[in-house]
Parts: sequence; structure tokens; C-alpha cells
Amino acid sequence: MKVLVTGGAGYIGSHMVRMLDELGYAVVTFDDLSAGFRDAVLGGEFVQGSLHDKAALSALFGAYQFDAVVHFAGSIAVGESVRDPAKYYQNNLVGTLNLFDAMRAHAVNKLVFSSTAAIFGEPQYVPIDEQHPQLPINPYGMTKWVTERILRDYDAAYGLRSVALRYFNAAGAAPDAALGERHDPETHLIPLALRAAKGELHELTVFGADYDTADGTCIRDYIHIEDLCDAHVLALQHLASGGESRAYNLGNGQGYSVKEVIQVAERVSGKKVPVQYGPRRAGDPPRLVADAGKIRKDWNWTPRFAALEQIVEHAWQWEIKTDIKG
Ligand code: UDP
Repeated sequence: MKVLVTGGAGYIGSHMVRMLDELGYAVVTFDDLSAGFRDAVLGGEFVQGSLHDKAALSALFGAYQFDAVVHFAGSIAVGESVRDPAKYYQNNLVGTLNLFDAMRAHAVNKLVFSSTAAIFGEPQYVPIDEQHPQLPINPYGMTKWVTERILRDYDAAYGLRSVALRYFNAAGAAPDAALGERHDPETHLIPLALRAAKGELHELTVFGADYDTADGTCIRDYIHIEDLCDAHVLALQHLASGGESRAYNLGNGQGYSVKEVIQVAERVSGKKVPVQYGPRRAGDPPRLVADAGKIRKDWNWTPRFAALEQIVEHAWQWEIKTDIKG
């Protein structure tokens, strides 16, 4: 099976490319390197290009007979999407529509789409299942929600079959530390906590300790990057065997508070994480936990690295390695 991975040089995309390559898929990464890294693409072919370049997309689809597309390329920071919504509507909607046009023009009708828990907005209950109301509260979540709606229409009208996977908190690194989380600037809790433990970051700021949770800090559902990628492989298999369009919530189903994550980071690193308490971060709901019962039941998706300790351990090995590399 020949698969196009857009955004294959990014955090999740690079782990996906490597996994697909190792499983024997023919993989082509398409990435403009605005947020990704060329040296993170460890398998398959690489084409540098942008979803805004229709001619490049046409040439790409003309050059390869893709069987399916896994679409990661896009902008991902909630806070930035509030400050600069135009960037998000351009990259995540206009770019995505260009991709769908190229797929239609070249009769590629299978897609796995990176969606997000942000399509649900403020949780009305947790864990969040697929029936939960969808009321995104920021432009990032809105772009993903609209894309899911577009996919319904494109399925009905053009026969585009898709699987939308709504990620909760992707975390961790490849168990052999060949790949890991690399954002510039880094904004995510686990890498920042580990960098504070290493002394690379002066201290970690905890965004709010006055939430209505047991210890006052926000609760999130951290899912190992490889477990997330496993779900994409199942999605590709489903589509390859003629399966219909689906959407699934994807997380471990277990929530950890910011303070609990810090404790685990200290245990794993064997070092103290210096912490200061700051105000809440805009747009942070107190609790986000997935009910991933549907994907477990339908496809027998089972996380291999469900324990937070293991997720943080892999992230730590990657942080140490990048330190050595300088
Ligand atoms: N967080 C924090 N300090 C940081 C980064 C994150 O307290 O420097 C908190 C954040 O408010 C949220 C949780 O850690 O409650 C996870 O945030 P992250 O940015 O990793 O992922 P998100 O939940 O935004 O997808």
C-alpha cells in the first residue's frame, strides 16, 4: 500500500512514517518544514512542499499512485490560534481543502485525519465519548470540527472514506529514543517538566492550581505516541478493506493532574522539578479525559504503553539523548 503522510516531519507524523516504513508500507512524506525537521523523517521518500502550493500537490499526486493519505500537516497551538486565527483557517482549512481537491482529481479516496479533543470544547461530562456535544471554543478546535463536517459531505458526494482520530494529549517518544517530541518553541507539559529537571529550564510554571480538581491542577489524558500511531495503522487497514467512514476518540481513558505529571517526571529523572505557580492559561478546561471504548471495541485497539511512568520514561530517554547531541 502506498501512503502519503502530510506533515510527516512533525512530532506525530515522524513516528507514523517510521512505523509505516517498518511495517512495509511505501511511504512518501510531504512537509513544508515550517514546523517539522527533515532529519526526523527516518523512512520512505521525502518531498518538501506546502499544501498552499496547488501545482506542487498536483505534481505529487501525479508522480505517485497513492492508495491512501494520512493527513497530519497543520497548525496545532490553541493559544496561537486565538491570537492569529487567520493562520489556522489558512493552514488547517484552505490547505486541507487543497489536499482534498488533489485527492479527488487523482481518485484517491482513503484518508486518515488528525482531529482533536478540542472539537468538544468545554467538557459537559468526562470521560468524553463520541456522543459528547461538539462546541469548539477556539479557532484551532473549530478548524478540525469543520474539517470533520466537510469529510461527511465529501463522503456522501464523492465517496471519500475517512477515519478521523481525535487525539487527547499525545506524549512520549520512540522506545529506542530515535525520535521524540520536538516543538519550537516547546509548550507541552511533559518535555518542559523534564527540561526543568535537567536544569535546562529555570523552572516550570504550573498554569493554575485553583481548578475544581482534587489537587487544584488540570487533568489530562496522556497517550503514548506509538499507541496513537497504532490506531492510524488500524484505520488504514479498515479503509483498505473497504470500511466506511468513522470518527474515534483516542486516549488512555485515565486522567493525571499537572502535579501528578510533575511527580512522575521527578521519579523518572531522579531530579527535582523546580516549580512556580502562575495564573490559569486561557482556554484550558479543568478535565479532559477520553472514553476510547469505541475504538477498543471496534478494532481491538489496545495501548502498549498505557502507564504514565512509561510515557515519561521514553520522553526522558529522548531528552537525555538530545542533550548529548547538543
Ligand atoms: N501546563 C502547565 N505548564 C506548562 C505547560 C502546560 O501547567 O508549562 C499544563 C496545561 O495548563 C494543561 C496541561 O499542563 O493543563 C497539559 O498542557 P499541554 O500544553 O501539554 O497540552 P494541552 O492540554 O494544551 O493539549
